[in-house]
Amino acid sequence: MSTPVLVVAELTSDGLLKPALRSVLGAAAALNAEIHVLLIGHQLETVIDEALRLPITRLLVADHPSLAVPLAETTTTVVRAISQRYSHILTAASAQGKGWLPRLAALEDVAMISDIVAIESPDTFVRPIYAGSLWATVRCLEPRKFVSVRVTAFSPLNGASSEPVSRENLSLDDWPAVPVIRSAVHEHPDEGRPALENARTVVSGGRGLGSAEQFEALLGPLADALHGALGASRAAVDLGYAPNDLQVGQTGKVVAPDLYIAVGISGAIQHLAGIQAAKVIVAINKDPDAPIFGVADYGLVGDLHEIVPQLTASLKNP
Ligand SMILES: Cc1cc2nc3c(=O)[nH]c(=O)nc-3n(C[C@H](O)[C@H](O)[C@H](O)COP(=O)(O)OP(=O)(O)OC[C@H]3O[C@@H](n4cnc5c(N)ncnc54)[C@H](O)[C@@H]3O)c2cc1C
Repeated sequence: MSTPVLVVAELTSDGLLKPALRSVLGAAAALNAEIHVLLIGHQLETVIDEALRLPITRLLVADHPSLAVPLAETTTTVVRAISQRYSHILTAASAQGKGWLPRLAALEDVAMISDIVAIESPDTFVRPIYAGSLWATVRCLEPRKFVSVRVTAFSPLNGASSEPVSRENLSLDDWPAVPVIRSAVHEHPDEGRPALENARTVVSGGRGLGSAEQFEALLGPLADALHGALGASRAAVDLGYAPNDLQVGQTGKVVAPDLYIAVGISGAIQHLAGIQAAKVIVAINKDPDAPIFGVADYGLVGDLHEIVPQLTASLKNP
């Protein structure tokens, strides 16, 4: 039997499994090995029930008050304690994964493979370089492979295990002392709208919105009419029109919705790096030469202050 692989799960602010986990499991399944999942947090009983229904072999649980808030330092400490058991350690290439996995790789002096979009064999992976302009096929000869997964690139592994999933509880004795770092403030983003990473529709705004008030007043109703998520360009985030976690692009989130509506966004290559997998792109921009029209399936040239309210009204009263 080959060495098992470990997938480290992330939880929503309600303490449920993030849907992205199924896509990381989809990547793990390509390794043809036993899959174990690690849950880290506190008061995990509800999510344990959910996780025991995953198509995996074993569930490891690290439940302790010091792990209540997912911090890179604590996650690294727990995963490091068991990493020797596994050939591969996988997690989503999310804000959390980007926080702890490089830290673990550095501590273990192992090269990390980030943001993979395909698995060719257990040691050969495909990942984007140059803001997604090229795909690099990389071979990793490390005995243990630390891999972050672009979740939009893998199909979710659905269903449940045909055999009962075994459960292993880790305790403080299993990992060295948790670092003396504590979270002072832990704010949850507004989860009234779907999460950007999994949304089937994304309405994104850029510098053209002009202010934070206009951003929400114009794009919020459009996103809600489409039951979609809000996204933003980096310029919109830097100008304070939208919070950081809405940024789409090379240094933000990679999205793969059925419909992506870019409003007042020019279409810089770093922004386009985050929307390559969108099925249909609609651009609204007053500049007919804006690069976004080069990738858009549908383009509306005009003032967003006129077009967006009309579009929202027609969606509400078709
Ligand atoms: C290393 C690096 C990483 C980066 N990472 C990212 C990233 O992850 N995501 C990202 O988005 N950017 C990223 N950028 C920044 C990127 O290069 C652009 O600067 C940014 O995407 C521009 O944002 P924007 O399109 O909102 O603004 P602009 O380029 O200023 O475009 C604004 C657009 O709004 C239009 N507009 C203005 N007023 C109206 C109106 N009334 N009606 C209709 N249209 C209007 C204009 O015609 C224009 O096309 C990165 C840059 C670097 C160097």
